[in-house]
Amino acid sequence: MTIQNPNPNPKLERCVGCGALLPSLEGGPIHRYMTSSAACWAAFNSLGDLKHPLGGMPFDQLLVDAYAVQHPGTSSPQTINSAAIHLMVLYGVLTHNASPDQALWLRMRPGRPSRIPKHQRFHWLTPPVFAGLTISDVLAGDTPLLRSRLTEAWIREVWSRWAALHQDQVAVWFEKYVLAERF
Ligand SMILES: [Zn+2]
Repeated sequence: MTIQNPNPNPKLERCVGCGALLPSLEGGPIHRYMTSSAACWAAFNSLGDLKHPLGGMPFDQLLVDAYAVQHPGTSSPQTINSAAIHLMVLYGVLTHNASPDQALWLRMRPGRPSRIPKHQRFHWLTPPVFAGLTISDVLAGDTPLLRSRLTEAWIREVWSRWAALHQDQVAVWFEKYVLAERF
């Protein structure tokens, strides 16, 4: 007779994007071009759902920006534009005093039609190494308010890693593609 363990320890898997160590969901869905473990992607998608609501703080609106740039994938026309746009949102709010309420506007602005084709506006930036907060830490907060506070701390940390390497470039893009009336 074999005795089945009702709660076998799940295998842990480290996310290639952010380094979060989570129970493996091998074979589970992941984003089309953001690279993460399936478990990390599932954690991201569960934040804000009925079981893990957020506290309704301003920085909750920047979740997707931080997640995207912590899981930027590898260089392609799509990932280049995605990383650039989400970095400009974080730069705008954390360095340029834009309100988190403007996040949607900030995301739309660089994609406006102009004489410069969309795939010639930005280039690939080598991502930083992440070794701090992840979506998994945010999800571990046990109240909505705490999850929102952790969200803000995580967003600030993700931006600070990128800023250390690429703030000047993101600032140039921000001036040209967000602030300027025309480009
Ligand atoms: Zn991850």
